[in-house]
Parts: sequence; structure tokens; C-alpha cells
Amino acid sequence: MIRGKCDECGGKIVAMKTDFSLFGVSLGKFPAEVCTKCGEKVFTEDVSDEIDKVAKEKGLWGLGVKTTVGKVGDSLDIRINRRIADFVGLQKGQTVLVHPEGKNKIVITT
Ligand SMILES: [Zn+2]
Repeated sequence: MIRGKCDECGGKIVAMKTDFSLFGVSLGKFPAEVCTKCGEKVFTEDVSDEIDKVAKEKGLWGLGVKTTVGKVGDSLDIRINRRIADFVGLQKGQTVLVHPEGKNKIVITT
């Protein structure tokens, strides 16, 4: 069943197939209810399960993790777990570019 209005902005909802990406990797197109005003996408439970399945198959499941910031000398230290390192091909001794993107995001480019 399609909701009449968007929960977020009250915009019109249409049913359509939409691209779904996780960590910049496309998982394919999935049926969703999409708000024509704000772009909010809502997937049914079945579709969410399907997306989870594809994410697991592609090795993307659970790549977003919480980590605690440590301290080494004057610098702060953030541990990157093995799965994320493997996903991006990061290795010890490698030089990476670290820069802020806005006030609440740090980007590490390999
Ligand atoms: Zn909306």
C-alpha cells in the first residue's frame, strides 16, 4: 500500500524503482515509495531484506562501525577495522589524504 503523503515534508508519494547505493557501491534498483518533493525513499520490509541480502553478498554488510577515538602523543588516533581496510585496500605504511568535509565528517582518501 502506498502512503498518500511523505512523513517528512507532506509531499506526494510515487511508487518507482530506485537505485540503492551503500558506501558508494550500487546494489541495483529496488521498488520504493519515493517522495517527489524531498526525495525521501521508503522500502517495504521485503525489499529491505532483499537489499540486506545483496549488501551481504557484495561484502558491504556491517562496514559502517562505531569506533572510539584514542590519543597518540599530540594526535588523535582512530582505528580502522580490518574489514574496512580490506574493502578499500588500505595497508600499513600507506600514505592517505585526510581532510574534513563539513563539521561532522572526515574523509580519508587512499
Ligand atoms: Zn518528502
